[in-house]
Amino acid sequence: MLALRYENKKLNVREVERPTAREEAVVRVLLSGICNTDVEIVRGYAGFEGTIGHEFVGVVEEAPDAAHLVGKRVVGEINAGCASCELCMKNDSRHCATRTVLGIMGRDGAHAEFLRLPVVNLLPVPDEITNERAVFTEPLAAAWGITERVTLTEETCVAVIGDGKLGLLCAQALCLTGAPVTLVGKHEEKMRVVRERGIETEKVEDAEKRFRAFDLVVEASGAESGFALALKLLRPRGTLVLKSTFHGATRMDAARLVVDEISVVGSRCGRFAPALELLKNSSVDVESLISEQYPLSKGVRAMQRATERGVLKVLLRQ
Ligand SMILES: [Zn+2]
Ligand SMILES: [Zn+2]
Repeated sequence: MLALRYENKKLNVREVERPTAREEAVVRVLLSGICNTDVEIVRGYAGFEGTIGHEFVGVVEEAPDAAHLVGKRVVGEINAGCASCELCMKNDSRHCATRTVLGIMGRDGAHAEFLRLPVVNLLPVPDEITNERAVFTEPLAAAWGITERVTLTEETCVAVIGDGKLGLLCAQALCLTGAPVTLVGKHEEKMRVVRERGIETEKVEDAEKRFRAFDLVVEASGAESGFALALKLLRPRGTLVLKSTFHGATRMDAARLVVDEISVVGSRCGRFAPALELLKNSSVDVESLISEQYPLSKGVRAMQRATERGVLKVLLRQ
C-alpha cells in the first residue's frame, strides 16, 4: 500500500506493507486531513518517524472479535492505551503512560491506504455525516476538549487567538457554550467563516487595545507572538488555555503569570462522541475550512501546500 512517511529526516510517499489485523482492527482510509501537528513532526516535533497523519475517516476491513464493525464507516480516537492501567480501564487512554498515538508516537498513522487501531478506539459515523465532515472529528474533538478542562458560562468573556483551522474550530466550539467569543486573527477572509456564525472577530492590532478584557484566552496560533498577546488580553486571575503543539521552546513572561495570578491550562485531545454529535447537528461549519484535496500519491505536495499562506485544511484522498 502507499503511505506518506517521514523517515531519515525526509518526507516521501512510498510502498509499504499493508498492516495485518493481529488483535487490532484494520481500517481502509477514505480521507485523511493534514494537521499542523503533521507539519511540526516534519520539523522535528515528537521525534516521530513513520507514517504520519491522525485525522481520518475510513471503512473497517478486518476486526477480530468485533465482526459487527466490518464494513462500517468509522473514525478513530488516536491514543491507543495499554488496556490495563487505571486510566485505560476507565476507557480513557489519552494519558496512559505507555500509550502510542496514531501517526505521532510509536504507531503508523492515517496518511496511508490502510491503518491499524484497537477496536475500542473506533466509532461508527452516522449516515448523515459526509466523509468531508467526518474527517474533522479529531480536530473538532480537540477543540471541544477545552470544555473538559475549563468551565465556561454565558458570563465568560473568551478570546481565541489564531485564525488557522484550529482557531476557527475552537471559536465555533466554544461559542456553543453560550460564552461570548472573540476570534483574534490576521486574515479577514479566514475570519469570515466564523463571523457568519455570530462570532465577533478582531484583527490583532485592534485586539491589542482590549487590554485585560478577557476571562479566558485560548492560544491557538502556534506562534510565540500569540502567547504575548494572550497575556495582554487576560484580566488578572484569568485563564490561559494552551492549544498548539509545536516544535521548540516557547518564551513567555512568567512574571506576568505570577503578578496577575493567571492560571495556565494545557489542552490536547478531546473525545470523539460529542464531536460526532456536533457534526451530525451541523452545529459547526467545517466544509468552509477545506482548501484543497489531493490524491495520497501527491502527499508531499499536499503537505507543502498545507504550510502556505491562506491555506486551511488540506485533505488526502486514498
Ligand atoms: Zn491534529
Ligand atoms: Zn493504559
